[in-house]
Amino acid sequence: MKLEPIPAFEDNYIWAVHDGRYALFVDPGEAEPILSWLEQQRMQPVAVLITHHHGDHCGGLDGILERYDIPVYGPATERIRGVSHPLSEGAPCPIPELGLEFAVLDIPGHTPGHIAYLGMDWRCCGDTLFSCGCGKVFGSRPELLHASLSRIAKLPPTTLVCCAHEYTLENIRFALTVDPGNQALLDWQSQARYLRKAGLPTLPVTLGDELQRNPFLRCWQPEIHTNLAALAPHSDLTNEERTFIAMREAKNRFD
Ligand SMILES: [Zn+2]
Repeated sequence: MKLEPIPAFEDNYIWAVHDGRYALFVDPGEAEPILSWLEQQRMQPVAVLITHHHGDHCGGLDGILERYDIPVYGPATERIRGVSHPLSEGAPCPIPELGLEFAVLDIPGHTPGHIAYLGMDWRCCGDTLFSCGCGKVFGSRPELLHASLSRIAKLPPTTLVCCAHEYTLENIRFALTVDPGNQALLDWQSQARYLRKAGLPTLPVTLGDELQRNPFLRCWQPEIHTNLAALAPHSDLTNEERTFIAMREAKNRFD
């Protein structure tokens, strides 16, 4: 089984999961990259998975469904035209052609109904977790985003995280303001620069690596806490959840 990020728009990735014959796609914001990829690879599409309702994640559905009659899985509590199989946590998501059975997790916070798909040893998490960053909160509450990220952090460290955007280098710039002495972060910055210069994606990443360098998964570390207190002197940093929220707000001001 292979995982492949197909670039779309300026910095989106549509993830293809395939075995060389059949393929499924996660979050097709546009149809064209998928249609030409299928033509080049001579593969047969078998399903589409959607994590949340934002247009850059599901805008390509019409164009794909015009050409192919395939099931579309998506979050049950978000209105998305084209979704044929609405899902929430625990619902079955079988892809028999690929011999896969995804586990569905409710991970609200970026949007209220955001879901993730957990495959064999990877997870497609849409806009919830990025390398060295996390999603913004749209129409939901940061407390929920914190709770969702805390759940993700407990998955096995070898889990491959398939994020939907190439935000790594921008996120590292902010991460270094709160965690400047983190060698794992500095090493990843050099490596990510090298990859981007070569035109390569920095994704997927392992959860274990992110636990060493993503400040949103490490906001309770003493050094990060101290630096954030200096950066956001009027914020409430009395517990881990409040510290996460203060960091999310500091990142919003930084962007
Ligand atoms: Zn989004």
